[in-house]
Amino acid sequence: MLCDVMKTLHDRGLLNVKGGNASIRGRGDYIWITPSKQPKHRLTPDDIVLMYFDGRYVGNSPPSIESKMHLHIYKTYGWVNAVVHAHSPLTTLVYELGLNVNVSDFVESMVSIPCIDSVGRCPPGSEELALSVREAVGKCPVVVLKGHGVVAVGRDIYSALNAIEALEDLSRAVLVKNTYSSAVQTHR
Ligand SMILES: [Zn+2]
Repeated sequence: MLCDVMKTLHDRGLLNVKGGNASIRGRGDYIWITPSKQPKHRLTPDDIVLMYFDGRYVGNSPPSIESKMHLHIYKTYGWVNAVVHAHSPLTTLVYELGLNVNVSDFVESMVSIPCIDSVGRCPPGSEELALSVREAVGKCPVVVLKGHGVVAVGRDIYSALNAIEALEDLSRAVLVKNTYSSAVQTHR
């Protein structure tokens, strides 16, 4: 599942080959998480890292640099079974421009995205980012990371992936709408 999700994100232009990460909850105090540095579009099950809640891990490569963020989320929210982080370019741009994003504008986004929260700029892999996202997930399962990307959590990994895809589609629509509105005003 993790390999399929990462390939889907890459195929849809939502992350570059060495970016992004995803994980699923195991049946105890551990998770399965994508490795750092490995090309994400061609992961195999052997590349996936087993990581315990105390930080120990078993795998052919170290876990993602955002593994702290994943662990904080799982330890805090028992209902979360999957975490996906992408570098969605249009979503990131829309939030950078400060445009208004309303999930109720489209049926697909309304169904796929319960709500959206956002966090400010923090260095990738930092404890600061991990704690900010953990807090935001308590309010909304989809969180935009300013100047960076998106984190979505879910009861299953395809709900999280679906929310990230729906938000990128909504962001594309927001950008087209704003560009069109600006063009119409310019010609008046
Ligand atoms: Zn990232």
